[in-house]
Amino acid sequence: MDKIQNYIDGQLTDPLSGHYLENYNPAEGVVYGLIPDSDEKDVQRAVKAATKAFPVWSAMSVAERSDVLLKVADLIDRDSDLLALAESVDNGKPLSLAKSVDIPRASSNMRFFATAILHFSSESHLTDNKAINYTTRTPVGVAGCISPWNLPLYLFTWKIAPALAAGNTVVAKPSEVTPMTAYLFSKICIEAGLPSGVLNIVHGLGPKVGQAIVEHPDIPLISFTGGTATGKSIAATAAPMFKKLSLELGGKNPNIIFGDCDLKNTVDESIRASFSNQGQICLCGSRIFVQRSIYDQFLKLFLERVKALKVGDPLEAGSDIGAVVSQAHMDKVLAYIELAKKEGGEILCGGAQVKLPGRCENGYFIAPAVITGLDYNCRVNQEEIFGPVVSVMPFDSEEEVIGYANSTAYGLSATIFTENLKRAHRVSHQLKSGIVWVNCWLLRDLRTPFGGMKQSGVGREGGEEALRFFTEAKNICISLK
Ligand code: NDP
Repeated sequence: MDKIQNYIDGQLTDPLSGHYLENYNPAEGVVYGLIPDSDEKDVQRAVKAATKAFPVWSAMSVAERSDVLLKVADLIDRDSDLLALAESVDNGKPLSLAKSVDIPRASSNMRFFATAILHFSSESHLTDNKAINYTTRTPVGVAGCISPWNLPLYLFTWKIAPALAAGNTVVAKPSEVTPMTAYLFSKICIEAGLPSGVLNIVHGLGPKVGQAIVEHPDIPLISFTGGTATGKSIAATAAPMFKKLSLELGGKNPNIIFGDCDLKNTVDESIRASFSNQGQICLCGSRIFVQRSIYDQFLKLFLERVKALKVGDPLEAGSDIGAVVSQAHMDKVLAYIELAKKEGGEILCGGAQVKLPGRCENGYFIAPAVITGLDYNCRVNQEEIFGPVVSVMPFDSEEEVIGYANSTAYGLSATIFTENLKRAHRVSHQLKSGIVWVNCWLLRDLRTPFGGMKQSGVGREGGEEALRFFTEAKNICISLK
């Protein structure tokens, strides 16, 4: 049985308590490994190591820091098959997805910030010929990075890379639900020669390890990705301590399809936006609004495609939909299907557990569900389900659909399909979301600001936004007189 270890002060170590949690393989529904059930004592050790490493790491030249992070990226690429397999087994996602998206993106994250830091600059302002203001941006200290289970190594590195590139040291906690690739990543960091204590990874439960990181007085900044409820509790703890906070939270994203769209592209992208990673991506478009003129036509084509998606063993080529991440999560998603029925929805396909033959017979598989007949403001259309479930609704006017789209507490991303350029601009500007895709979905450029409005988060990640978050700005004003 695989036994994961913490990575503290450059060493792989057991949790001080000696206690472990069970790690499930969601495709088989069985325990296949053990995870350290760490506590605040392990976090304390990690913070001590990170504090000790900070003066050396932050004083290294950016070129030296960049070199180590590039080495980490190279080793991720070297081990990409191993990492992709580990991610698929740990999370339930199709191996093909882990190979094509998760792991390549993890090395891109490292490479992107390892090189971005070489070009990072700060402002200077000439003030009426009376003074020169210049701004310095220096690393803050020990950063706390907490990440979720849906894109494990992808989101873990998305935080760690800018934090380290900017010269901070890090105490990180991956989700205890999917810790395996973070563990393999710690071995890669050792091999790459990352100095001891620069990155520390403490495995364990959110309320124990995560909370201890958030509460720690020697961690002045927290970067968190996860659910809105957890984000709220983290903000409540961190705000009175005046910590810097970056929160990337949940979403309930609208996918708005106008009558003048390119229907083939719209159906293709809508399938991806709805069901990639079993619908467990914060950016998935779970509310599909279709203009009435093409509603029937779209629904027919969309349904044909959804029914053709293969729910299957994640390790088999050709499986489109793997397992959802846990029994608890499967139960939550299925409860929303029941709620949809109570709220007057019609389940046109899917929405039940799928029993696969062979090794996956006890796995957590759900057939992708398409629901119609729900009001835009019912619970199923307002709350985040985070599974392979979409609700399709008709609309008539632009004004009406903007109201529907903006009606939830969330504001992470939105997708618009139209061939009318003016409309694309007009609607994009009126949507209350941090990201808008037009005629595409999840087409990412790592330089762009990433994050949500309203209850989808606080702050932005990506490119210079991330490097600014992970540095402290100081303005120095020099009189010219
Ligand atoms: P959670 O909020 O449950 O957990 C996220 C992380 O926080 C985990 O590592 C978790 O540990 C930890 N945690 C839990 N409680 C605490 C606490 N009190 N203090 C500190 N840390 C804590 O989210 P999920 O893992 O369930 O991920 C799914 C959610 O993430 C969805 O809502 C999704 O929308 C959101 N998400 C947002 C993204 C964005 O960029 N906006 C991207 C991807 C996902 P543990 O696992 O042990 O509970």
